[in-house]
Amino acid sequence: MQLTIDLTGRDVLVLGSATAARQAVRRFEAAGAVVYRLSSPEGLESDGPLPEKPFLVAAVDDGQPGWESLLQRCRDAGIPVATEPAAGPAGHVTLIGGGPGTPDLLTAGALAALRDADVVFYDRLAPYQELPALTSAELIDVGKRPGHHKVAQGDIEQLMVDAALAGKNVARLKGGDPYVFGRGGEEVAACVAANVPVKVISGVTSAISVPAAAGIPVTHREVSHLFTVVSGHAPLTETEHTHLAGLGGTIVVLMGIGTLPQLVAGLSRAGMDPAMPMAVVERGYRPGQRTTIADLGTIVNAASGCSNPAVLVIGEVVRVAEANRNQAESTAELDRLAASLLEA
Ligand code: SAH
Repeated sequence: MQLTIDLTGRDVLVLGSATAARQAVRRFEAAGAVVYRLSSPEGLESDGPLPEKPFLVAAVDDGQPGWESLLQRCRDAGIPVATEPAAGPAGHVTLIGGGPGTPDLLTAGALAALRDADVVFYDRLAPYQELPALTSAELIDVGKRPGHHKVAQGDIEQLMVDAALAGKNVARLKGGDPYVFGRGGEEVAACVAANVPVKVISGVTSAISVPAAAGIPVTHREVSHLFTVVSGHAPLTETEHTHLAGLGGTIVVLMGIGTLPQLVAGLSRAGMDPAMPMAVVERGYRPGQRTTIADLGTIVNAASGCSNPAVLVIGEVVRVAEANRNQAESTAELDRLAASLLEA
């Protein structure tokens, strides 16, 4: 969380123990304030000079008794008092599911953990552009960047553990859900091995939400009552193709652009109907979101210009989206018609 008020050059007195107040101090500094500190109400022992009359007093809810009389004196003197949440206990890791890339799909738990972080290690699939508005923490990109090498998984784990052992609250923001092709289990294991407290906040997985961004429900009554989520990182085996084609439900493939030709060939060999509808949804919830719809027989050609990140959907549910879209369009068309008749 960042403050939306511009406090450039204003004296702000932050009350609260050093540990509890550290994030509030960062928030006020980021808003441009000249921050003064008072870490204990006992005898007004100060951590430095205090301003004559601060513009604002920020009272961090640090659990120490004895602040109230000082706060009352501030209010009596006409100084506004803002209550600020205390930073949580230091030295732990929170794995956060960041959803498919829009802050709208961050959970309340994710927002709270981001606000409480001292450092955030983030991936590029998470809604990272919005981080500066959501946290005052140091932001570290450990994902793939064009022209840069991806930070190796073992190094990410080491960075997280070291920061937590140094007393920081570490947030690890991952795309989608941490436990869906996210290596979340490995990161938890690394923390446990280093005796660092760790918790996981589930996120909205792209496996469901990216098809939804294109209007595709992964299940639909009387159309599909099961869905399978597969990684297309490496080609599937012949047995896997056979089982997938035999299941008869929706197939959702993540990381599947590179292996699309093998997948299509494998499912065809396993007997899937060449007319089976397929969709490729690229950059869900992000600028440039695009949906390409074809069928098993034509998708390789149709999707030749598609790139990651993209989610592939195979199954009759793709038609539900088309039907809904046509319905929405015809409804919009009727509305326009009605409006023009009313005008006439
Ligand atoms: N843990 C993540 C998945 C990580 S694997 C989750 O639960 O969503 C990375 C793959 O996720 C990408 O290759 C792509 O297939 C998919 N993906 C994630 N975000 C996406 C988005 N906004 N648009 C399209 N695909 C996305």
